[in-house]
Amino acid sequence: MKFMIETMGCQMNENDSEKLVSLLLEHGFDAVKDPQEADILIVNTCSVRKKAEEKFLSYMGRLKYLKKKKNLIIGVVGCIAQLEKENLLRKVPHVDFCLGPSSIHKVIEAIETVKKGQLYLDFSENGEETLCLKPSLTSKKIKAFVTIMKGCNNFCSYCVVPYARGREISRPSLEILNEIEELAKNGVKEVTLLGQNVNSYNKDRNDLSFPQLLEKVNEIPGIERIRFVTSHPKDLSEELIRCFGRLRKLCEHIHLPFQSGSNKILKLMNRGYTKEEYLEKIEMLKEVCPGIAITADCIVGFPGEEDRDFEETMDLLQKVRFHNVFSFAYSPRKFTRALLLPNQVPREKALARLRVLQEEQRKITLEKNKELEGKRVDVLVEGLSKRSSLDLTGRTRTNIVVNFGGPLELIGRTVEVLIVKGYANSVRGANIQHKSKI
Ligand code: SF4
Repeated sequence: MKFMIETMGCQMNENDSEKLVSLLLEHGFDAVKDPQEADILIVNTCSVRKKAEEKFLSYMGRLKYLKKKKNLIIGVVGCIAQLEKENLLRKVPHVDFCLGPSSIHKVIEAIETVKKGQLYLDFSENGEETLCLKPSLTSKKIKAFVTIMKGCNNFCSYCVVPYARGREISRPSLEILNEIEELAKNGVKEVTLLGQNVNSYNKDRNDLSFPQLLEKVNEIPGIERIRFVTSHPKDLSEELIRCFGRLRKLCEHIHLPFQSGSNKILKLMNRGYTKEEYLEKIEMLKEVCPGIAITADCIVGFPGEEDRDFEETMDLLQKVRFHNVFSFAYSPRKFTRALLLPNQVPREKALARLRVLQEEQRKITLEKNKELEGKRVDVLVEGLSKRSSLDLTGRTRTNIVVNFGGPLELIGRTVEVLIVKGYANSVRGANIQHKSKI
């Protein structure tokens, strides 16, 4: 039987989809890229924003026709499945199986059950088994995500993750290190350690702490670059910050969501830090690792946000000068406490603030990219550029996309490139010099 997976949402979902691919291939199923060719279509869903949910419903609407045309098995997995549970079947009755993020290891059982003509639903809360699944190693990869923990205990008042993905569970360090060693043997050069809040990895377990884990990954031969997402500012310890100054393979980039620059809003969001504390950590990062690139997430138009709160956010933007900010207008989500907060900000106002913030950040990002002009940087070559098949593409250690001309043999290698032009979303490189392997 042939299967296809449609993935929506974050890197955690992408990683979960890779695990599903691995399981299905192991059991003799074949992967296809066209829904028309598939016998099984699995939709891995995201519910972090309303837009993602709307996208899912519209996609499911399109699948109705395919389901009628052929005997297609449709599975819905991920966050929407977990949050909606049986209710989902009222909205999309043409679904054959639903698995929450902690139940994806049951995909084969689900398919077998559906083949017998029965519906299969599983919304387990215990994610240990899923956490230990490994993504497929069949395709040659240069970069890989490695899940180190799942779930979140923070309950930010706007976020569905603790309801959709459950409480924090850390994966044993030995398992993680074995997986990375295996990836390195298969040619992977860069790993990104993945979790909703990696800073609290093994907080309640007698195993390696997150900085200790980074140190061990740093020793694995073949791995040239290490990254991690996502960090929570309140749990970013001094010990972890110091890793940026001393671990050679740890890239000079951190994604540190601030969400708002207003202490009043941060409190309403239940974020557990103040603007001043956030800025202190940024200072320390810049001191330990000069040139570190900082990216972040930010929400505007959160309930209660007044003009002066938004000004605080803009002030933070100016003070930090982020390399990039992923910004969104607040999106009310079912199950979250923010839904009950008074003083909801009209959508139009939130969108107007978002435009101001994004315009400002666009300028800063462009300035940052232009600062690279005339500098030589190390680039891990990832493949052909999406824009032009004549160009190669890769990233700097600071996670900036570099496009440049060069032979295909460079894919998978680290080269030194001269930056000749900075643009809004990438930079242009030339004059390549090969670097020896680490
Ligand atoms: S830290 Fe907050 S925003 Fe991040 S996943 Fe946990 S609850 Fe959601």
